[in-house]
Amino acid sequence: MTKILNADLHCHSVVSDGTLTPEDLAARAKANGVELWSLTDHDEIGGQARALAAAKALGMRYLTGVEISVTFIGHTVHIVGLGFDAENEALAQGLRDTRGGRKQRAMEMSDDLARVGILGAYEGALPFVGNPELISRTHFARFLVESGVCKETNEVFRKYLTEGKPGYVPHRWATLKDAITWITQAGGMAVIAHPARYKFTPNEEYALFTEFKALGGQGVEVVTGSHSAAEYVTYGHTAREFGLAASRGSDFHSPAESHTELGTLPLLNKELTPVWELLGSRIQ
Ligand code: AMP
Ligand code: MN
Ligand code: MN
Ligand code: MN
Repeated sequence: MTKILNADLHCHSVVSDGTLTPEDLAARAKANGVELWSLTDHDEIGGQARALAAAKALGMRYLTGVEISVTFIGHTVHIVGLGFDAENEALAQGLRDTRGGRKQRAMEMSDDLARVGILGAYEGALPFVGNPELISRTHFARFLVESGVCKETNEVFRKYLTEGKPGYVPHRWATLKDAITWITQAGGMAVIAHPARYKFTPNEEYALFTEFKALGGQGVEVVTGSHSAAEYVTYGHTAREFGLAASRGSDFHSPAESHTELGTLPLLNKELTPVWELLGSRIQ
């Protein structure tokens, strides 16, 4: 097999909080020169068969993917799973359970926004929702932009929907142990998504990486749309320190909202072991 350089192993479709179909994402990845692609919808693998079929039709290699929402020491952390068997029943059940509380949470978010005079946010978010089990903060953000409360989604996440701001409802997601177990028992690799996003203290971050590794996690995103160039270097060191493979992914959600396009990030530093080198037999 020729050496893969342009892998994009993190993005979202209408099956979670992206705005494009799996087919449109595959075409966009291919057009941007992606050689190995993965669709990683939040808490949901309902788009995997379509993504795989679209990738194959375009002659692009594919790894199954998912991004699982986890609560770790009171913070939300995202764990990407790659190369698992998408038919695995324990994984499917775990993801169903993880999705389970989203509707109730959304209604509470709407009630909280009503307290500051923003009415009808639940009903307003629904037209943006592609998957009724997967209503997310992103859909509320699109409603707040459409209704003129904010100019763009970044402004929404500065003023609303985040800790201490109107519309924020704390939620208990999967445990780190469960998420890693579901992924690895389905034959896949667990990867810490965008570690710089969590605003952990050094001790908290050390605890995350230590526990992740002890529970069987094998990778970390180093080059992602959520990291700065300096953070590519920082987390490249962290990967080596913890003996983790490195991943690369844009976290693309939407042509209108995402500043990082599929397949356009810098390549991984040659000193790092790419996750796809350990996942050779899982590549389709
Ligand atoms: P949820 O899973 O419902 O809590 O929604 C999380 C999603 O909200 C993330 O996957 C992002 O798509 C979006 N999000 C969270 N924080 C931000 C931010 N600061 N800027 C833009 N999008 C964000
Ligand atoms: Mn998202
Ligand atoms: Mn994420
Ligand atoms: Mn993501």
